[in-house]
Amino acid sequence: MNLSIAGKVVVISGGAKGIGEAISLGCAAESAIPVMLDRDAAALNKIEEKLSAAGHRYGAFQCELTDAAQCERAIQSAVENFGKIDALVNNAGVNDGVGLENGSPERFAHSIQKNLSHYYALAHFAFPALKTSRGCIVNIASKTAVTGQGGTSGYVAAKGAILALTREWAVEFLPHCVRVNAVVPAEVMTPLYEQWLATFPDPQQKLASIVSKIPLEGRMTRAEEIASMVVYLISDQASHITGQHLFVDGGYVHLDRAYTPTEKK
Ligand code: NAP
Repeated sequence: MNLSIAGKVVVISGGAKGIGEAISLGCAAESAIPVMLDRDAAALNKIEEKLSAAGHRYGAFQCELTDAAQCERAIQSAVENFGKIDALVNNAGVNDGVGLENGSPERFAHSIQKNLSHYYALAHFAFPALKTSRGCIVNIASKTAVTGQGGTSGYVAAKGAILALTREWAVEFLPHCVRVNAVVPAEVMTPLYEQWLATFPDPQQKLASIVSKIPLEGRMTRAEEIASMVVYLISDQASHITGQHLFVDGGYVHLDRAYTPTEKK
């Protein structure tokens, strides 16, 4: 299958680490041009070195996405440097544990700022460029939007809204033939996930308990497997897919637990 995404300009929020890094590298491997927005300067430098050593074209923009003005400058910079935007991948986020009992209205609002507001800001500022390119948006959500997690109201509210906005934007963009889809991961080993695991008294035991409940192969999803879905959705091969929530999770959310590797006799 020829994905034909060579030369496409793909803006990726949180594109320097974890799932975002895998998406940036996945796009570059198909000769697209990843434009990585991230606040982590060291991680940006590292991926820039990797991409330039392999002779890839890319853009890198260090920014704090909770600041809408920085989102606007990042989008302007992508258009100025590459003349267009073909795809926006909204990916940056953090499961920040703002729950009902341990949170506050102020911390809840801040969590929405960290996990949701920049998805809107980047889509808003990229709207004219995406209209011109008849491009697409891929929103990274989370299984917690449909399963709940407990103790993380802000993050889950944001991820639920991201699924709703995927449908809303798919409709708003219909006249411009811009497709909008969401990819829904469950358990992916990334720097963020490692930090979260480290909050448990026995991280290894917690990890073993999690993977034992993942139906397909009893293992974590690899960041590259999320990236493959994103790259496919960006490609013309996905030309009639819009408004969809694609779960890349080894069956974690939808399959019968009776068939998980540890439960099967
Ligand atoms: P990660 O390892 O923390 O990588 C995300 C990158 O985005 C980091 O470099 C991070 O910088 C950056 N970033 C986050 N917020 C930012 C902001 N406001 N401004 C600028 N840069 C920002 O995270 P990940 O695990 O790859 O997660 C990526 C996405 O997948 C998130 O939306 C997450 O909710 C979703 N997801 C992940 C999993 C999983 O199992 N890993 C499961 C479901 C959903 P810092 O390191 O400085 O924060």
